[in-house]
Amino acid sequence: MTKKTHSFQAEVAQLLHLVTHSLYSNQEIFLRELISNASDACDKLRFEALNDSGLYGDQPDLEVRVSYDSKAKTLTITDTGIGMTTQEAIDNLGTIAKSGTKAFMDKLSGDQKADSQLIGQFGVGFYSGFIVADKITVESRRAGTQASEGVRWTSGGMGDFEVEQIDRAQRGTSIILHLREDAQDFLNGYKLKEVIAKYSDHISLPILMEKEEWKEGENDQPGEMAKTGEWETVNKASALWTRAKKDITPEQYQDFYKAISHDYEDPLTWSHNRVEGNTEYTQLLYIPAKAPFDLYQQGKHAGIKLYVKRVFIMDDAQALMPQYLRFVKGVIDSADLPLNVSRELLQESRDVRLIRDGSVKRVLAMLEDLARHDKPQADAEGSDGVVDVVSEDDKAKEGKYSRFYSEFGAVLKEGLGEDMGNKERIAKLLRFASTTHDGLNTSFADYKARMKEGQDAIYYITADTLAAAKSSPQLEVFKKKGIEVLLMTDRVDEWALNFLQDFDGTPLQSVAKGAVDLGKLQNEEEKKAAEEAAEAFKPVLAQLKEALKDRADDVRATSRLVDSPACLVVSDSGMSLQLARLLKQAGQ
Ligand code: ADP
Ligand code: MG
Repeated sequence: MTKKTHSFQAEVAQLLHLVTHSLYSNQEIFLRELISNASDACDKLRFEALNDSGLYGDQPDLEVRVSYDSKAKTLTITDTGIGMTTQEAIDNLGTIAKSGTKAFMDKLSGDQKADSQLIGQFGVGFYSGFIVADKITVESRRAGTQASEGVRWTSGGMGDFEVEQIDRAQRGTSIILHLREDAQDFLNGYKLKEVIAKYSDHISLPILMEKEEWKEGENDQPGEMAKTGEWETVNKASALWTRAKKDITPEQYQDFYKAISHDYEDPLTWSHNRVEGNTEYTQLLYIPAKAPFDLYQQGKHAGIKLYVKRVFIMDDAQALMPQYLRFVKGVIDSADLPLNVSRELLQESRDVRLIRDGSVKRVLAMLEDLARHDKPQADAEGSDGVVDVVSEDDKAKEGKYSRFYSEFGAVLKEGLGEDMGNKERIAKLLRFASTTHDGLNTSFADYKARMKEGQDAIYYITADTLAAAKSSPQLEVFKKKGIEVLLMTDRVDEWALNFLQDFDGTPLQSVAKGAVDLGKLQNEEEKKAAEEAAEAFKPVLAQLKEALKDRADDVRATSRLVDSPACLVVSDSGMSLQLARLLKQAGQ
């Protein structure tokens, strides 16, 4: 076969332009991306080989080798993973399959500095090679194919790439980077080892580099590091979660989080446990500090990695974590699942169900703990007269729940509808703004504690914005009587609140629904006045009703208004105005 030229998909060309033209402040992340691809390729081979051990051929080792050539100015990353056929190379390296990438590109501001930080944060996978290279050659051979069926893919990172068939003795893939002038400091063993240690220590397969020795120069020539032909493992390859808690420092936990999440910020908190009982597993779960840009994107949210006895099995958020906790990142390592567990089996497995339930409980417990310590804790004198000093640990948790909630609160609310079994616990974790307390920090419990004597419901209003909620005429009577009303402005509120009839025995009542019954909050005089008014307005109401008969179900006198002459409400069973508006927006 001769060389064939292909064009990159338009999005790839756009992305490459950005990668090569950004002032790149954080060049080294390319190595993290390429080693992570090599590791994925090895995981894929291990997984496919469970059903076909012949795929290993005469190379049983799964490993990654990193080497450089100072003269040719190339850096090469070679793996013994699954490899690619010609068609796979064209498809996988010429298009962007990831749905998130589009959203990522929409986020770009055009400001080089901000944009280059974005790349560092998200990584752009294989294409990040072009941060340091002006030409990349990929040579690959799919496991299970003939040596003559290798492929060479070459591109200068502009509009197109070339593909040709080659002979390749070994299965797997080599990525050969022709380094740009400004990236030649990667032609250095120390530098490479340092970057590998920083980003790839946790990779559970060996990363090898050739050992080097100092060689004195001869005839007044300067000395240099010379290769010895012997290879050594340069990463720790330690599955962090398998180590004892007491042997792991907070920094190690944080580094591991950054490695698996590609987040550049520290997580808010984490929880590491070994669970024994009906099923045995280890969980290491993290709550991020910032919402990812694709939190609301449909489809795959691979936050949790499933391992079986340290062997990576798959990213599958669906089976291991419900949708409303899709922001959680981490690792679950089961001792009981079979290694060849399939996606279908995962859905049905009793062990997986137990693991999922246990992990949900753990996440809720982490959130409850943060919520408990959100506000500064005063040193308190206990009943024994001893002052309980607030620990450093507890102090460190202050303010974290508020941060969590402003990023993920709206997602957590989805749990009211999705996870009936934990509804009460989720409801306790919710926070709202209210007519008497600004900021997203009133819980249902806080509200209840502040309820007026005689008040027997938790009142709330839903609207598109806080301003709209606050100025709603439906609030007039509540303002007049000094009754607090919760202001709900998340899109999901309307839907989620359908699943919560009451909180701890007190019913929830939307002020925009039906005839608001103020019950004991209205005194006898007010009740009488209302009844008399209703009587007096009867003829007018009948006329209005007739005039609006196609547009309104009913017209009634109300005691909910103080200054405004009229307002729209929906019937108790009807959908609220906000939901109706939402559906209308969606074209229903
Ligand atoms: P991602 O890893 O998120 O899928 P990348 O841009 O990093 O995205 O890689 C794109 C695709 O190219 C991968 O999904 C994989 O199919 C293929 N690929 C990249 N590197 C390798 C490799 N070393 N071995 C086999 N396939 C690879
Ligand atoms: Mg990748």
